[in-house]
Amino acid sequence: MINITIDGPSGAGKSTVAKSVAKRIGIMYLDTGALYRAFAYFSIKNGVDVNDENAVEMLLGAARIDVKHIGGEQRVFCDGLDVTPYIREHNISKAASDISKHQSVRVRLSEIQRKIAGERDVVLDGRDAGTFVLPNANYKFYLTANPEVRARRRYSELKEKGADVEYAKVLEDIKLRDYNDSNRAFAPLKQAPDARLIDSTDMSAQEVADIILQYVNG
Ligand code: C5P
Repeated sequence: MINITIDGPSGAGKSTVAKSVAKRIGIMYLDTGALYRAFAYFSIKNGVDVNDENAVEMLLGAARIDVKHIGGEQRVFCDGLDVTPYIREHNISKAASDISKHQSVRVRLSEIQRKIAGERDVVLDGRDAGTFVLPNANYKFYLTANPEVRARRRYSELKEKGADVEYAKVLEDIKLRDYNDSNRAFAPLKQAPDARLIDSTDMSAQEVADIILQYVNG
């Protein structure tokens, strides 16, 4: 079984790189952020405050969360509803960051990731894939870049989609999410001791994917 983990802060290019690596080796890409986003969306839709741990835990206990790959696309279902189309909204990024601090949420969503990774070859991108979810993964990478470059990339992506955003606001959001991800008590964003550090500040996603593949192909 091949398990490749790519962790790192928001906007480091993890998903583009992970998708490219998965495609080039011919294995599945698992976007773990989509699980946090899906559950955050589902909570809001059910009137649950994502910061209220008890309410979140109650919903989590009752909710069925499934990940399916349909036509090569990952879809996340909450109680049978495909929430994928709604999870990229700006308010959901913030809500996902907030809900991800709860231990119960991390444990449950990690179980889903482990189950998938135990059944098939997979590239996962996340925050704690190499430290908590799959500490025994065969290949671990920690992808980062300076906050200004990450914000610039995110800003360009949003602009391309026609969003009305300011660069300064995007940078502020990135810094806030870095802080939240790195400082939560349970399974924070951290480089695993055995993960290879790649700084993509001056690299394209293609170059990063090439480096990862060099390691994986030995
Ligand atoms: O990666 P993405 O931006 O889609 O993730 C949304 C949020 O979910 C992140 O800001 C992060 O706080 C959280 N997350 C997490 N652990 C993961 C993936 C995402 O805490 N494995």
